[in-house]
Amino acid sequence: MKFIWGKKELTFMIIPGANRRTVRFKLPHSSLYIVPSVLVLVLMGFLVTIYVMNIHSEQTKTSMQQAFDGQEQQLTQQISNQSDELEQLQIDLIALSQQADEFKAKLEEIKKLDHVLELMSQPETTNGTSKKGTSTPLSTSTKRDIGGSEQPVKPEDVSALVSSTKNGLNSLVTDINVLLGNLTESEAKIKETEYVRTITPTLWPIASHSITSGFGIRIDPFSLKPTMHTGYDLDGELGDPVYVTAAGKVITVGYDEEHGNHIIVDHSRGIETEYMHLNKITVKRGESVTKGQLIGLVGSTGRSTGSHLHYEVHKSGIPIDPKPYLITDRKDERK
Ligand SMILES: [Zn+2]
Repeated sequence: MKFIWGKKELTFMIIPGANRRTVRFKLPHSSLYIVPSVLVLVLMGFLVTIYVMNIHSEQTKTSMQQAFDGQEQQLTQQISNQSDELEQLQIDLIALSQQADEFKAKLEEIKKLDHVLELMSQPETTNGTSKKGTSTPLSTSTKRDIGGSEQPVKPEDVSALVSSTKNGLNSLVTDINVLLGNLTESEAKIKETEYVRTITPTLWPIASHSITSGFGIRIDPFSLKPTMHTGYDLDGELGDPVYVTAAGKVITVGYDEEHGNHIIVDHSRGIETEYMHLNKITVKRGESVTKGQLIGLVGSTGRSTGSHLHYEVHKSGIPIDPKPYLITDRKDERK
């Protein structure tokens, strides 16, 4: 290449080789100034572009960093919340498991009670065995844990607890259904037993247990001849309270020279009781009375030699020995 000076233009010659044609082209002389200027402008434009891109890149980076930080914080919060929820669920599960254990223990107590009720409703049974055999020993402890090392809960531990709690609850439901059946049956028996107890004259009619004359043949204190004494003479002070020995209905209230002031109470099922020689009567004929209710006061009216209560028990209209019936005191019966 070759420059030719001295003219208003520049001639460029390119000589590729000895046997090849020379290439020649011309440029105005002013291009010597224009080309560098253009180059400088291009370079400045390039630098400005890089600068602008750099600023934009920084802004993008900052913005992305902020977004990332926000998301990271949000995720951390979510993980923390879920961890709290999981821990709460585990606490709830443990509480549920403990409740199931406590419930099971209560159920065992109910089973025992059921067994006792069954025995109570079958007083004739003497071998003491239950025909259903539902009672089992109490085995579950409901006491609170008091110490031990602290270990993190593993997922398999939680699964095992869930499984055991579920099995325990299923077993409880089965037991409850069986118990409900037994209890319904026992309840009916107990109601019947309780009713029979209420209408059976098992009380002593006065506080005194002193028997001055028993049931059977004796020498009559007036005629001094052997006679049948159809009840018990209980030694009591004048005015001592007289209590009806079972629930029932007062069917006779009256006075005659032999029985004095007397009361007959019908207890149903063929049982009646009679109270004689009373000083005072505190019930009326036709009145319903509860077991142990005050019905009169000890006296010596009628054919009597002193203050006492003549007490009789009738079964199907026939006087029977009251002795087997005199079981409890009124104060013990009523607690
Ligand atoms: Zn008598």
